[in-house]
Amino acid sequence: MSEFDLIRRYFDWPQAAGTLGVGDDCALLPSAAGSWAVSTDLLLEHRHFFSDVPPRTLGHKALAVNLSDLAAMGARPRGFVLGLALPQADADWLAEFAAGMRLLSEQSACPLVGGDTTRSANGLAISVTVFGAVDARRALRRDAARAGDDIWVSGELGEADVALRVCRLERDEPPQDALDHALMALTPAARAQLQQQVLPRLQMPQPRLALGALLAGTAHACIDISDGLLQDLGHVLNASACGAQLQAAALPVADSLSVLPLAMQRQAALGGGDVYELCFTANPDARTRIAAAGVRAGVRVTRIGTVRHASGLQVFDAQGLEVERPQGYDHFA
Ligand code: ADP
Ligand code: MG
Repeated sequence: MSEFDLIRRYFDWPQAAGTLGVGDDCALLPSAAGSWAVSTDLLLEHRHFFSDVPPRTLGHKALAVNLSDLAAMGARPRGFVLGLALPQADADWLAEFAAGMRLLSEQSACPLVGGDTTRSANGLAISVTVFGAVDARRALRRDAARAGDDIWVSGELGEADVALRVCRLERDEPPQDALDHALMALTPAARAQLQQQVLPRLQMPQPRLALGALLAGTAHACIDISDGLLQDLGHVLNASACGAQLQAAALPVADSLSVLPLAMQRQAALGGGDVYELCFTANPDARTRIAAAGVRAGVRVTRIGTVRHASGLQVFDAQGLEVERPQGYDHFA
C-alpha cells in the first residue's frame, strides 16, 4: 500500500460544506473572517534527519517545512504549536534547537503558542502544526490547474537531493542509482566542495511565504515540492484531472550541480525531494504579474511547461525527445 493509498483508504473522511479536507497542502476551515489554513508535519530521527544534524538547523527546518505548506496555499502564518518527544533533556542541544526555530518564527511572524513535551524511549520526534489565514476564494488549491496553464517553479532545483545523497554516501551507504555513482565518481575534494555548497539547501530550506501570498488570486494551482517535482506536480495533475508537458532545458537547475553530467542534474531537479520550492500553474496572460511577484518576493520564478487536457506527465529535451523520469519519494513504497 502506498502512503497515498493508505491515507485515502483510512483517513479521507467526509467533510462539512465549506471545509477543504485531506488532499491538499493545508486543510481550510471556514471562520467568520476568511478561512484557517492548517497543516502538520512530523519529523523523526533516523527517518527525516540524521542524529548529528546541527540542532539550530533542525529547529529551523521543522518549522520551515510547515510554513512551506502555508505558502503553497497562499496563506499568511498566524501561529504554531510544537510537539516534542525527547530521549533526554540536553540543555545545549535544546538552546540551539530553540534558537533556530525562534529566528524563523520571528522572521515569518508566526509565533509559538503552545505544544506538548514528553520523554521518548527511542529517538527524537518533532511535530509542528501551523495555522494560517487565507481567503478561501483566493487559496491556491491543488485541484485548480486548467489545460493551457503555464507551469512555474520558484527558486532552483536539485541541491537538497544532492546534499542528502552525499550525506548517505559519506555514511558508507551503498550507491543506489546512476546519480549516486556520478557523485562517487567525483574526486573526494570535489565532492566535499559540492557538499559545502548544497548542504544549506537541505538543512535550511526557505519557505516561500511572500511569493505564495502574492500568487493567491493570480495563480491557479500550487504545491510545495517535498517529495520531488514530478511526484508533487503529479498530485496537482491528478487533483485537477489534467496532464502536462515539461521542458527539461527550462528547469532551473542550481549552478553548483554543473560538476555533474546534464542527465544527472536533471534527475536531481525532477526527482529530488526536500526542496520546499513552489510549483504552481497560471493562465499565460498572468506572466507579467507572476514575474513581478517573483521580483517583489526576491525569488526567481521560471516557466517550465504547460498543463494539458490529455492525462500523463511527459518531460522533453531540447530535441523534442522524451526524457527518462526518476521516481519521487513514497514513505510506504
Ligand atoms: P504535504 O507533502 O503537503 O505535507 P502529503 O502529500 O504528505 O502533503 O499528504 C497528502 C494529504 O494527506 C494532505 O492533505 C495531508 O493533510 C493528508 N494526510 C496525511 N496523513 C494523514 C493522516 N494520517 N490523516 C489524515 N490526513 C492525512
Ligand atoms: Mg505540501
